Amino acid sequence: MYIGIDIGGGSVKIGLVTKEGLLIDKQESKINDKNNPELIIHTYYIIIQNLLTKNKISHIKGIGVGVSGHINNKKTKTNFCNVPVLNNYPIKNKLQNLFKIPCSIENDATMAALGEYKFGSTINYNRFLYITLGTGIGLGIINNGKVFTTANGTIGDAGHIIVSPYSKSTCRLGCRGCLESLATSETLINQSQLKARKTPNSYLGRILTKRNCIKLKDILNGVKKEDPISLECFSNYCQWLSIGIFNWVQVFRPNTICIGGGISAFGQFLIYTINSYIIHRVLSKTEYDNIGLKIEKLRINKKLSRMYLSKKMNISVNHLNLIENNKISIPIPLLIKFNKILNFSIKNLIDSNKNKILLKSFFAENFNLIISKLGNNAGIIGAATLTIKKIKDV
Ligand SMILES: [Zn+2]
Repeated sequence: MYIGIDIGGGSVKIGLVTKEGLLIDKQESKINDKNNPELIIHTYYIIIQNLLTKNKISHIKGIGVGVSGHINNKKTKTNFCNVPVLNNYPIKNKLQNLFKIPCSIENDATMAALGEYKFGSTINYNRFLYITLGTGIGLGIINNGKVFTTANGTIGDAGHIIVSPYSKSTCRLGCRGCLESLATSETLINQSQLKARKTPNSYLGRILTKRNCIKLKDILNGVKKEDPISLECFSNYCQWLSIGIFNWVQVFRPNTICIGGGISAFGQFLIYTINSYIIHRVLSKTEYDNIGLKIEKLRINKKLSRMYLSKKMNISVNHLNLIENNKISIPIPLLIKFNKILNFSIKNLIDSNKNKILLKSFFAENFNLIISKLGNNAGIIGAATLTIKKIKDV
């Protein structure tokens, strides 16, 4: 049995993980005293002891720790961590001495990428980008089956690429217009709350009045129910994210992109909406409008009546007419439904152009967006994976 520790800004998640990557049990705890590293380590110790007693486990083989910051070259300490007091604190040695077992420490996105590669949805994918989307944005890379890192145990600060230079939004590190300043779970929630407050009778407005806060799962439910505010805020979030993804793809040319972290709960909605924005970016307006015509043609060729489609899509015929008249470039969430029903993929949308422009052919042939299987547990399982791998390699 192994321990995975996922250190977040306000809380820690600790889990028991088998050598096959199965999460047996986990506990999440808020860290009240964020200024005392000894107390923080003591909290970890108590949680681990609780988990071991509760699950009647007497022996653990190793501990893995994932943190959001940089890792020093010796892989013993962290820097720019989201728990600042742990910066330069000998976290690896402290845990090793406490439990008398090997401990490994690594950047959280890198670890989650490794966990996904060994036990998740990218098993046997030798080259992929792993994006963790939550209160921050992290990027991990598996290249030729190995973790790719730079000198700082990360691949730089991928979440801080500038996507909107004249934006007034700043991220937690203070940069203006970076992806993290515009597309985190917090910005999505804040924007939804702002809009919900102005419309108390809307779906999210009623939740806000009742509970005084909106959670990510409320927005997800809103997207499923086609609540206009949820759709608008989620689409806006995806638009920024698609710019980030587009830029990373130009640099790394991965075969696959795997999305994890809290936002991955949006599943196929996330995939289709990002795909839609990517299509929008690689195609000219005329080509994009042609997609609308293609849908119409397909509907006629396959003799799909408006009534049939409207039933399938669970929307009114009037609504369907509206989509057809506007083509499909405006109501992105409804494109999602078209994608599902008519089996559209980026590949067959761009196929006709594939030898003309390199960029288009890349997105047509290689762009493969998938959702993490480990989801919210990727941090814990990923952290445990590094120590499992190290011990097995020895
Ligand atoms: Zn930033």
